[in-house]
Amino acid sequence: MKYQYKKEFRHHLVEWFNNEKRDLPWRHTSDPYKIWVSEVMLQQTRVDTVIPYYNRFLEKYPTIQDLAYAPQEELLKMWEGLGYYSRARNLQAGVKEVVERYNSIVPDNRHDISKLKGVGPYTAGAILSIAYQKAEHAVDGNVMRVLSRVLHIEEDIALPKTRKVFEEAVEMLIDEQYPGDFNQALMDLGSMICTPTSPKCLLCPVRDYCTAFNEGNADQLPIKSKKVKTKKVKFNVFVAVDQEGRYLVEKRPSTGLLADMWQFPMIEINENGISDETFQQNYNVEILEYEDKELLRFKHIFSHLTWEMECMQVQVLQKMELPDDVVFLTIEQIKTLPMPVPMLKILNVLN
Ligand code: SF4
Repeated sequence: MKYQYKKEFRHHLVEWFNNEKRDLPWRHTSDPYKIWVSEVMLQQTRVDTVIPYYNRFLEKYPTIQDLAYAPQEELLKMWEGLGYYSRARNLQAGVKEVVERYNSIVPDNRHDISKLKGVGPYTAGAILSIAYQKAEHAVDGNVMRVLSRVLHIEEDIALPKTRKVFEEAVEMLIDEQYPGDFNQALMDLGSMICTPTSPKCLLCPVRDYCTAFNEGNADQLPIKSKKVKTKKVKFNVFVAVDQEGRYLVEKRPSTGLLADMWQFPMIEINENGISDETFQQNYNVEILEYEDKELLRFKHIFSHLTWEMECMQVQVLQKMELPDDVVFLTIEQIKTLPMPVPMLKILNVLN
């Protein structure tokens, strides 16, 4: 893009952003900690969902020190329902590093900030440009879509190495005076106007500089190769209640998917089906045979995996010594524990 066009492109884009931007709580601050929290919450999660979580989170942890030393179970409870819980754990680890190594001041350069746990190239660029006004790229899916169309970039955005092409494109175009607004404008343009299907080109502030619009092929960009199919796993979920009306729950392992969250016992259904026996053996309980009551069936979709859940209520007759991290609790006690969304669905049915 010629220098004169670049200048005009920036000007129209930033001006559009200033006129049209949504009033969002994290747009009222330049505190890098708060912007960091918002950016982490916004990964894989819709803006409308994030707003109440963000407000509650910062009420609970108003300073970086408050979050650094918060108990993990309480933190997971604050994050409950947002999904991708490793984000919360990484955020806390990164924040703690800032408190302990950088005297509670979030680094203002890409080299240091990128070393913090959970801070990838996008989050680093977003914090640096929005909080510190540094002319740094922050490339997410929206930015790739917009720039693939404006500059007619035909690289496959499903390949990790393609991100570099877009980072260089942002470096070439970025507004040195208002880098934070420029980056946010590209993201907003991607989510509001330059949408994956049927982009609203007639409302677009940079239409005059857009190669795909001029060539009439915006709907063919960006190029994205197909994702591999997600894996399906079927589970029986045992909602086991004892004679005092308490339910059996367990804590998940401290690494891997949904680490340290709580759940009703889940047993994978293999080709031989599932027997109540496996449940009884694994959890050291005896249940009333033939009295299973189906509670609900549903699917829960993660980015790479689908859980197909068949949930049933069973009556516990006897319990022996329970395995570690397995307990019987009342519904009120269970509600204080961090639970992932599929388990909250089951909990709702029990209420
Ligand atoms: Fe996207 Fe259309 Fe604007 Fe080009 S003109 S950036 S395709 S919305």
